[in-house]
Amino acid sequence: MRYISTRGAAPAVDFTTALLGGLAPDGGLYVPQIWPSLSASEIATFAGAPYARVAADILGHFVGDAYSPSALHRICQEAYASFSHPAVTPLTQLAPDQFLLELFHGPTLAFKDVAMQLLARLYEPVLAARGQSLTIVCATSGDTGGAAVEAFAGRANVRIVALFPEGRISEVQRRFMTTAAAPNVRCVAVDGDFDDCQAILKSLFLDTVFAQEVCLSAVNSINFARILAQSVYYFVAAAALGAPVRSVSFAVPTGNFGDAFAGWAAKKMGLPITRIIASTNRNDIVARALQSGIYARGEAVATQSPAMDIQVASNFERLYFESNGRDGGQTRNDFDDFAASGHLQIPSQVLSQMQQLFVGTSVDEATTTQTLGEVWTETGRLIEPHTAVALAGARVMGHADRQVPVIVLSTAHPAKFPDTVREATGVMPPAPLAARAIAQLPERFDRLPAQSEAVKAYVRAMVAA
Ligand SMILES: *Cc1c(COP(=O)(O)O)cnc(C)c1O
Repeated sequence: MRYISTRGAAPAVDFTTALLGGLAPDGGLYVPQIWPSLSASEIATFAGAPYARVAADILGHFVGDAYSPSALHRICQEAYASFSHPAVTPLTQLAPDQFLLELFHGPTLAFKDVAMQLLARLYEPVLAARGQSLTIVCATSGDTGGAAVEAFAGRANVRIVALFPEGRISEVQRRFMTTAAAPNVRCVAVDGDFDDCQAILKSLFLDTVFAQEVCLSAVNSINFARILAQSVYYFVAAAALGAPVRSVSFAVPTGNFGDAFAGWAAKKMGLPITRIIASTNRNDIVARALQSGIYARGEAVATQSPAMDIQVASNFERLYFESNGRDGGQTRNDFDDFAASGHLQIPSQVLSQMQQLFVGTSVDEATTTQTLGEVWTETGRLIEPHTAVALAGARVMGHADRQVPVIVLSTAHPAKFPDTVREATGVMPPAPLAARAIAQLPERFDRLPAQSEAVKAYVRAMVAA
């Protein structure tokens, strides 16, 4: 299996190169040259199967000869043993036709663990075999940083720098990063918003001299292996509810569009999905694009669901490429224009292709709070604000088909956003062990201005130390 760039101007690479490199050298994102297709009988075997086995099965279609089937299975078993629930991503029922997919049972209580625990273990044998040492720089809107730090802390041949927007993430989110004591971890509070952090990360990669000098790698959702890891739970949940015979829909709280694109990938591989509702908070670039065809940057605003406070959704480029007949030249032109002008008019045939699967909706802060409160009073469950955005989106959009259940992705544990949850419900979410442990530990982080050169100097100093 080879991987090509959405911008059509980078050589095709193998799985490990896409895994370690993150962004393609032409500034595009890697996608498989050919999407594998899973047969209905293979999908049927996922019902009731251990999560790690399903993950190993699906990954097996993508990794080529980089890992043996038994090595891959062992990596998946180790990754998902770090989760505190035996089903890894259990489904719970909210209403006759509505389910929550709980993606927050990993070590940092957010769905980012699902991919990151796997990624760290996929890196290890490859780096050891290549005798290579990498520097991962990650830009986080809250949860990626903690998940990456937890997954990579103390591992051989890797150092990690987590950039987060100062004052824009919750204390629990911050502490999952800043309390890491391992010497291969650094955390940086950037004086800016998440889009600044993401833009800095991108500029580090575009400076190829710097990227080679420090062996730069990315684990943001531009990394294809993360998308792949996330497509697994779409299969697991759908199979539990009757796929491949029965179709399902999903509602996804959307920021960078990685999770939503993982759903697109699952459908492309053969999973019967009727509809994916991409639900954003007031930072609604994706919702507007899917509704109106205008992909245009706005001003990022702070909300109760900070992991989605972004105005550029990097993975949207993957959907664009897949929806325009995989035309790398057009994708390159259009996203270069977008980078310059902050505006892109999606051609109507490309938009209608996207709308075959996706609908977009934006949920305001009052509705998010109200949904949190309603779920508590109706079902006795506490959910957190990102999940509430997805659920509110599902309620607004209604059903595409009454026979098709809606699975709402629940991306974080309520204890990660205790203040917001308490304000909406009057109840303080009980903190699981993982959150209690980090509350007492000392924090360690540095501060930098939102400037690429400052971050480069910082990373160089860490590599030289
Ligand atoms: C990252 C994150 C999201 C958004 O996921 P994307 O893949 O960026 O769209 C939603 N909810 C939570 C809790 C997150 O951490």
